[in-house]
Amino acid sequence: MQQAGTPLADYPHLYIGGQWVAPVDGEQVESIDPSNGRPWARVAFGGPGDIDAAVAAARAAFPAWSRRPGHERAALLRRLADACERAAPELARLETTDNGRALRETRADIGGHANAWHWYASLADKGSGRTIPIEDSVHAFTTRRPVGVVGAITPWNVPLMAALWKLGPALAAGCTVVLKPAEHTPVTSLELARLFHEAGFPPGVVNVVPGWGAGGAGERLATHPDVAKIAFTGEGETAKAILRAGADTLKRYTFELGGKAPHIVFDDADFDQAMNAATGSAWALCGQSCALGSRVLVQRPVYERAVEEFARRAARVRVGPPLHVESHMGPQAHAQQLAKTLSYVEAGVHEGAELVAGGRRITGGDYDGGYYMQPTVFARVDNRMRIAREEIFGPVAALIPFDEEEEAIALANDSSYGLAAGLWTRDVGRALRVSSRIEAGMVWVNTYRYIRWSTPYGGVKASGWGRENGLEALDAYLDVHTTIISKTGQFADPYAS
Ligand code: ADP
Repeated sequence: MQQAGTPLADYPHLYIGGQWVAPVDGEQVESIDPSNGRPWARVAFGGPGDIDAAVAAARAAFPAWSRRPGHERAALLRRLADACERAAPELARLETTDNGRALRETRADIGGHANAWHWYASLADKGSGRTIPIEDSVHAFTTRRPVGVVGAITPWNVPLMAALWKLGPALAAGCTVVLKPAEHTPVTSLELARLFHEAGFPPGVVNVVPGWGAGGAGERLATHPDVAKIAFTGEGETAKAILRAGADTLKRYTFELGGKAPHIVFDDADFDQAMNAATGSAWALCGQSCALGSRVLVQRPVYERAVEEFARRAARVRVGPPLHVESHMGPQAHAQQLAKTLSYVEAGVHEGAELVAGGRRITGGDYDGGYYMQPTVFARVDNRMRIAREEIFGPVAALIPFDEEEEAIALANDSSYGLAAGLWTRDVGRALRVSSRIEAGMVWVNTYRYIRWSTPYGGVKASGWGRENGLEALDAYLDVHTTIISKTGQFADPYAS
């Protein structure tokens, strides 16, 4: 935890065109440590002019980078992977300081990033096309070419992971990138820029410009005519603003947006394992992840047991300073998020759900000034309540009872979101039946939040467009070009007769 009087960590520069430069029309902004509400770093924020410079650098770097043989791009990505492996403990510490996510979580997450960078390196020479049989007289084939300059706009809950999921496939495909991290958590993206620099990436291939969203660096990136694609993770309303802002430029988009994932527990499930997963996925990241199972649908015969179990386990969660390894859960990442979570607790009580655990901000002693929230459990939730329909992004579990399989499916799908779902059952037929009918980009059966770089990640409905990770991730950064060659060179005169 930052002690009063400790000098601020200083990040006075943006990373543009391979140089560390002061903002031309930006400012220096303090980044807040959410565990105590005090500034801990001072960070350069770029303005529209800085984005213009970064896009120009990325555009200049694009021709050479996109033509570079895939195995050479792969070699650089592998050097970056090794650098990330060495830096992982420090990156975890910095990310925890900037966004309050418990160190045990950032260590586990960022500790795996080297493997993910290696996976993306392995894709760098896999962007092949296909040949298309038509007639003997022609040879038709496709090639795939990188789309151009990518604007990556990332959120504050998992800043490094979100950057990795965008920069990995973009760079493997041969695109160049301008990364704009969230205003609440800019630090680790600048650290990542340092690693790119040390790994020897050519100037302009990766540029990092922290800044504001609406009216600032983010919006300029979204409207810039030379940005071919926006890869965005964040809120649905922001995605719509980005779409509107970029409409005149006809960009490509991938959107990884919110979720309200149903986590279904049938009465034949291994109850203890289901509770491990359901409680863990309700409160992980202090509730600040779109794939968490925040709607827990429990079959009636085991519903009361589940409510008791959730309340019992909520009391066991060690909420505390996020840098202490024994803390399970840190604070919410910023003051507005804490206020938002508390307002949903009020809404839940007001709408008649039963608050069986938590529901309050934690203050006093070590907690003072921090944005700490108790792990919270609502029982007897109706799926029509706001706490069941809207994404809270706080550690709030809503337990909803159901009777029959059909009802579980209907409740699961009665949501504007469709990112992820989980289900627990020992019945293989039921697992297949239910998972095939859930409207979600990902379904986990007898496990939850099993996320790997090799498996596609993304949602349907209001949860987004496109997929990150998996071989599919590459598609979002490549255009398809079709070439048809006549083998004879004969072309009939259309006006001969
Ligand atoms: P959250 O509310 O979870 O912070 P947002 O969707 O607001 O999520 O933010 C995600 C990212 O989008 C951040 O990097 C933010 O700066 C950026 N952003 C916010 N508004 C805009 C906008 N109008 N145009 C471009 N980027 C934006």
